[in-house]
Amino acid sequence: MTSPQAIPGGLRPDTPTVLVKIFGKDRPGITAGLFETLAPYGVDVIDIEQLVTRGRITLCALVSAPSRGGDEGEMRATVHAWAESMRLEAEIISGKGDNRPRGTGRSHVTVLGHPLTAESTAAIAAAITSNDGNIDRIFRLAKYPVTAVEFDVSGTATAQLRTSLALEAARHRIDVAVVSSGLQRRAQRLVVMDVDSTLIQDEVIELFAAHAGCEAEVAEITARAMRGELDFEQSLHARVDLLAGLDASVVDKVRKEIRLTPGARTLVRTLKRLGYQVGVVSGGFTQVTDALQESLGLDFASANTLEIADGKLTGRVVGEIVDRAGKARLLRRFADEAGVPLAQTVAIGDGANDLDMLNAAGLGVAFNAKPVVREAAHTAVTVPFLDTVLYLLGVTREEVEAAETAD
Ligand SMILES: [Mg+2]
Repeated sequence: MTSPQAIPGGLRPDTPTVLVKIFGKDRPGITAGLFETLAPYGVDVIDIEQLVTRGRITLCALVSAPSRGGDEGEMRATVHAWAESMRLEAEIISGKGDNRPRGTGRSHVTVLGHPLTAESTAAIAAAITSNDGNIDRIFRLAKYPVTAVEFDVSGTATAQLRTSLALEAARHRIDVAVVSSGLQRRAQRLVVMDVDSTLIQDEVIELFAAHAGCEAEVAEITARAMRGELDFEQSLHARVDLLAGLDASVVDKVRKEIRLTPGARTLVRTLKRLGYQVGVVSGGFTQVTDALQESLGLDFASANTLEIADGKLTGRVVGEIVDRAGKARLLRRFADEAGVPLAQTVAIGDGANDLDMLNAAGLGVAFNAKPVVREAAHTAVTVPFLDTVLYLLGVTREEVEAAETAD
């Protein structure tokens, strides 16, 4: 008998092997039944794959040729008789050796659709093929609130695949993330998020402006900044200046008005369970991010600080300014403190001032972002649920829900 353990590097390519495929209505005992049927033939198991889709089981077993109890023909007859008794379909194919080795250049491709159409799935699969990639495995990560499917791909460079699939994603209005495969994906990581319109649904300066009765003026400055007439720091100072004289008690009111983005708590809780460190960087204010850090149990938080004197906002900010470059600098600082290489960081943001941070991170996720941000980021999420980011990290909805239920 040829034992795979006896040969370094696995099975010899010329060793006779038998592939047994079982398909039919799933019920308890099928897997046990198949292997109980094979056991008298003294076969070794080389590979098993099993999946159940809407109550139908597909079970594939790759085994060595029979070493006792009869020849391959007899084993085939026994398996077919068993399958017939179970009202299952069996296909048995003789061959040689193990699975073909996977090609070099391995990636995980996560596709998020709402809905995921056959047309967009065809486009993704065709693009993988045209990049000389091979789809080794496909499985569903989530069915709610989006359909999320992961393709394990080999044989093509991750960066090339990412560029090509980004075009298909934009064309078909789906979200596609391509990350390289490897231990890195399982390692503990650091996730750093923007706050306004990312972790929360609001823009904090606008909440303050509403209390100061200067919403229109603040909106005008924001628009000028977006037209490129002011840089972030200039617009920050100009907007905060409009808040001068506002009673400091407004800070508490604004904290209460903040609405977390759907899925924000689930995202943070799940990341913490995975042992990740989580932080926020904001062009907004520590008066708000400190409260978020406290309530969500974040490891890191940094933002601008509104100056308060004699119970009133002075219209100035104090300390280091968190702007576009500052956010990227803070990502590096947090990674350093967390002891996580930059390549293992994930940054999430929606605005132009998040771009440096998104590009500096190992994975930059544009979250419901403007086109300019979406196009420059590694990947984009265009559904308004922050926990969908978990699927990009390979976490399934089932795992998330099981952990929530267990608590
Ligand atoms: Mg933002």
